[in-house]
Amino acid sequence: MKVSIIGIGSVGSAVATAVQNTGLARDMVLFDRDAMRARAAAEDLGHAASFCWDINIRAASHYRDIRGSDVVIIAAGANQKPGETRTDLLHKNVAVIRDIIPHVMANVNAATVKLIIVTNPLDVMVMLAQKLSGLPAGRVIGTGTMLDSARLRTILARGLGASTQSINAYVLGEHGDSSVINWTSATVGAIGLDDFCRQTKNPITAATRRTIEYRVRNAAYEIIQGRGATWDGIGAAVADCLTCIARDEHRILTVSTVTGTGRTAVALSMPAIVGADGVSAVLTPKMSAAETKALAQSARIIRTNFDAIGK
Ligand code: NAD
Repeated sequence: MKVSIIGIGSVGSAVATAVQNTGLARDMVLFDRDAMRARAAAEDLGHAASFCWDINIRAASHYRDIRGSDVVIIAAGANQKPGETRTDLLHKNVAVIRDIIPHVMANVNAATVKLIIVTNPLDVMVMLAQKLSGLPAGRVIGTGTMLDSARLRTILARGLGASTQSINAYVLGEHGDSSVINWTSATVGAIGLDDFCRQTKNPITAATRRTIEYRVRNAAYEIIQGRGATWDGIGAAVADCLTCIARDEHRILTVSTVTGTGRTAVALSMPAIVGADGVSAVLTPKMSAAETKALAQSARIIRTNFDAIGK
C-alpha cells in the first residue's frame, strides 16, 4: 500500500510515525510546502525504520511524487493556539484545502483513492474536500470524533475499572464544541452502561456525566495549553482508520463523511462501517430526545460554517 501525507507538522509527523508502526504501508511519501521540513522528517523516520518496519519513506519534492497512492492523508494547515476554537481556523484552512485538493486529484487514481482528512475545523474541511475532489462521499473520510470517542472511552474506563476495549461509547456530530455524547447506546461489553453501573455499584450521576462531557470537549484545549498542540492521539486515530482500510476490516468508527445532498448535505460523525472502499454504511444509534436535538443543532452549526466559506 502507498500512503501519502500532506502537511508534516506536529500532526503529520505523528501520523507518519503511527502509520510506519502499523507496518501496513510499503511506501510512504511526505509532502509539505516547507520542503526542508518534509525532507528532515523523512530522514528521521528512515532511521527509525531500522528499528521497526523497513518501509520506503521519502519526502516529495513535487505533488507528482504521490502518484499511485492508495490513501492520501491531509494534515496540513493552521492549528489552534491556546484559547482558539477549531472554528477560528476556518478561513485560514479553507485556503489550505483549496490549494491542496486540486494538486492531489491531478496525481491520484480517482476511481480508487481514499482521502483521510485531519485538518480542522474537521467537518467543514471534509465537506470542502469532497466537493473539490468530486470523490464519492464514502472515500473522503474525516477522522471526526474518533479522537473524542477515544477520550470518552478512556475517561469511562478509568472510572469504571473496565478496559477501554470493553467500552463501546460514541461521541457524535461535530469534531468540536457542539459534539454530542451518545450515552443512550453506551455499553460495557454487551451490557448497557447504566446496567453495568448498577451491577458494579458504581453509579454515574447526572453531575458525573456533565463533568465527563466537559472533560471530553475540553481535552484538546488542555493539551494545547500544556504542550502547544495535540498529536499523539490523532496520530493513532489516523493509523487505526488506515488499518481498517488496508485490512478491509469493516470495523465501526465514528468518522465524518458527507451525508445528504444539496442544501441538506452535511459532514458529521456517526458510527460508520469502514473497509477497503472507505465508508460503506453510516449508522444511526439509539439516541434520547435530547441527544437527537443536540445532534441536529451540531449539524446546523457545521452547515452554517460551510455556507459561510462561500463558493
Ligand atoms: P503544524 O503547524 O505543526 O503543521 C502544519 C503543517 O502544514 C506545516 O508543516 C505547514 O508547512 C503545512 N502546510 C500548511 N499549508 C500547507 C499547504 N498549503 N500545503 C502543504 N503543506 C502545508 O500544525 P499541526 O499541529 O500539525 O496541525 C495540523 C492540522 O491538524 C490543524 O488544522 C489542526 O487543527 C489539525 N488537528 C486535527 C485533529 C483532529 O482530531 N482532526 C487533531 C489535532 C490537530
